Amino acid sequence: MRTQVAIIGAGPAGLLLGQLLHKHGVDNVILENRSAEYVLGRIRAGVIEQGTADLLDQVGAAARMQSEGLVHDGTEICFGGARHRIDFRALTGKVVTVYGQTEITRDLMEKRTVAGAKTIYEATDVSLYDFDGAKPRVRYRKDGKQHEIECDFIAGCDGYHGVSRQSVPAKSIQSYERVYPFGWLGILSETPPVSEELIYVRHERGFALCSMRSPTRSRYYIQCSIEDDVEQWSDDCFWDELKRRLDEEAASTIVTGPSIEKSIAPLRSFVAEPMRFGSLFLAGDAAHIVPPTGAKGLNLAASDVHYLSEALVDFYQSRSAGALDRYSARALARVWKAERFSWWMTSLLHRLPGASPFEERMQLAELEYLVSSEAASRALAENYVGLPY
Ligand SMILES: Cc1cc2nc3c(=O)[nH]c(=O)nc-3n(C[C@H](O)[C@H](O)[C@H](O)COP(=O)(O)OP(=O)(O)OC[C@H]3O[C@@H](n4cnc5c(N)ncnc54)[C@H](O)[C@@H]3O)c2cc1C
Repeated sequence: MRTQVAIIGAGPAGLLLGQLLHKHGVDNVILENRSAEYVLGRIRAGVIEQGTADLLDQVGAAARMQSEGLVHDGTEICFGGARHRIDFRALTGKVVTVYGQTEITRDLMEKRTVAGAKTIYEATDVSLYDFDGAKPRVRYRKDGKQHEIECDFIAGCDGYHGVSRQSVPAKSIQSYERVYPFGWLGILSETPPVSEELIYVRHERGFALCSMRSPTRSRYYIQCSIEDDVEQWSDDCFWDELKRRLDEEAASTIVTGPSIEKSIAPLRSFVAEPMRFGSLFLAGDAAHIVPPTGAKGLNLAASDVHYLSEALVDFYQSRSAGALDRYSARALARVWKAERFSWWMTSLLHRLPGASPFEERMQLAELEYLVSSEAASRALAENYVGLPY
């Protein structure tokens, strides 16, 4: 088989890249090692920046998000038992849309099927060859048989644990990493959200987040120990602990119910530099991870593939490699801004094991400053709604 761009991974990065390339006539094949159902079953991100929404619109995959997504003009930050609103629209003129990653994935998969573009699911043992030479190739196994795809370029969109970044010799890559000493226990329930907007909570017992996927489906998180096993958290234990961290009004009005999904996510900051190795380009979680506090993971995957698709289309239209040469620096400039914001939000709102009483008071002082200074609130809002591409 031959294609122009072989894309590894059918997460948001791979699927969106595939559609952006297809729209401009660039042939591509996606290789995914899981089944489509498995990919659709992963509950992850939910806050969509305007830039990401615009990209989905460009590929004709935004209709359902526009009708079913929840537009949020602001968010609330709760500490010391009181809530404070950050008004995104008033401070920046921009908003975010709450719409689940699983739904975005479904919309992109449907578009790809309609377009007749090829996605090979359950492609195992994917391996990359000669991406630093003249004949890049990708091999995989499917139904017990070995296959090979010849291509011009490989896009590594296969997430943090994927094969693409691991195929690069260690000496060619510089990694920066921080693993946080806590995790997020998340629950999805068929209950109405406690509030119309997200509530970020800083509490002595730990961070909490009240989020949602729809007017009838809620997503709640609490900070937990990284050693915790999800099995040790019954639904009742989860709701009790969440209520302890909420303000009085939220704790007394929250509607609880059985979980339909429950999982623990570790928190990590990670960046691999550069994001290009010959004809291999990394995008999304394959190149960087942010802790979910700033809601940036999916949005960064989208901005990466925006830059990458522009560069690849430019190459095929003008035979100029200039934009491809600039891809890594361009993407990384935005990545580091999002890394800073996500690290800052995480440090501001979580109980940091080992923090001294002074550090805890500084956290509260910073929160007081954040909600009382228009400049500080605007800085948060500008980063949260998404910096321009
Ligand atoms: C538990 C969890 C909760 C999250 N919550 C949030 C949130 O609330 N807000 C937010 O903004 N972000 C959140 N994120 C981050 C966000 O979901 C990711 O940033 C986003 O999924 C990145 O998309 P991606 O396409 O780069 O990678 P992925 O979504 O990881 O997709 C990579 C794809 O590649 C496939 N793959 C892997 N290895 C191979 C291989 N060897 N061969 C072929 N295919 C392969 C995988 O199966 C997967 O389908 C969360 C992430 C996790 C794990």
